[in-house]
Amino acid sequence: MTSTAPTRPTVAPSEPPALLLDGISKTYRSKAGSVEALRGVTYHFPRGSFTAVMGASGSGKSTLLQCAAGLDKPTNGTVTLGGVALNGLGEVALTKLRRQQMGFVFQAYNLLPSLTVYDNVALPVRLTGRRPRRDEVLGVLDRVGLEGKAKRRPAELSGGQQQRVAIARALITKPAVFFADEPTGALDSGTSRQILGLLREATDRGGQTVVMVTHDPVAAAHAQRVLFLSDGLVAGALDHGDPAQIAAAMSRLER
Ligand code: ADP
Ligand code: MG
Repeated sequence: MTSTAPTRPTVAPSEPPALLLDGISKTYRSKAGSVEALRGVTYHFPRGSFTAVMGASGSGKSTLLQCAAGLDKPTNGTVTLGGVALNGLGEVALTKLRRQQMGFVFQAYNLLPSLTVYDNVALPVRLTGRRPRRDEVLGVLDRVGLEGKAKRRPAELSGGQQQRVAIARALITKPAVFFADEPTGALDSGTSRQILGLLREATDRGGQTVVMVTHDPVAAAHAQRVLFLSDGLVAGALDHGDPAQIAAAMSRLER
């Protein structure tokens, strides 16, 4: 594992990072006491990069994702997405930015059960106040291998197919950054590979940026870089690791 400067990946100097975390800390306070979930995370995600975030349970992975996506506010520090500082935005502007610039894929697919596949995928476009074109929706369904499934409802599909719908729904607005929290957590290995291939393709062909939390070294090996979190801090990074190297780095971290 390299512990050297994971904050400075190789990017063309003229290219601003897609996502910038600067000194992010997050303290959860409750009557029972306070928990420092993040303790000063600084990291730049280059445009077009695919980064897996790994770490033991409780190390702050989900909190990092929530703060980076503006779904939660850091206690300190700034998140900048596409040059826009999230902490300067009000709720309305933040929601608009999220709808236009971010895509989300979660372990639980979060599809609307009463809507068809077509309408689930069309929804993010409708939420931006535009009527989606039919070829646009069908095109993105094609791209994730769901041609012919537009009229189905989520419950009529397998888990892998439902996650493809979720990816199509995230792809349709052409977001700058995809956030994925355990996107393959509920899928078998073959289906997982296909889903991870779709995320990888978004970075390779679309210049989109993917930040994916996972505990699975096989899933993480689809990313270009694995970022390791330990106790709310970046503990290191590994580039182009295979599953065995990633697993070894994880167990060194947990020792
Ligand atoms: P991970 O995703 O790596 O398992 P989390 O980001 O979910 O870690 O949690 C990091 C730490 O913050 C843990 O100690 C967890 O218990 C705590 N935590 C997370 N969310 C909350 C919350 N809403 N309120 C209080 N503590 C929280
Ligand atoms: Mg988590």
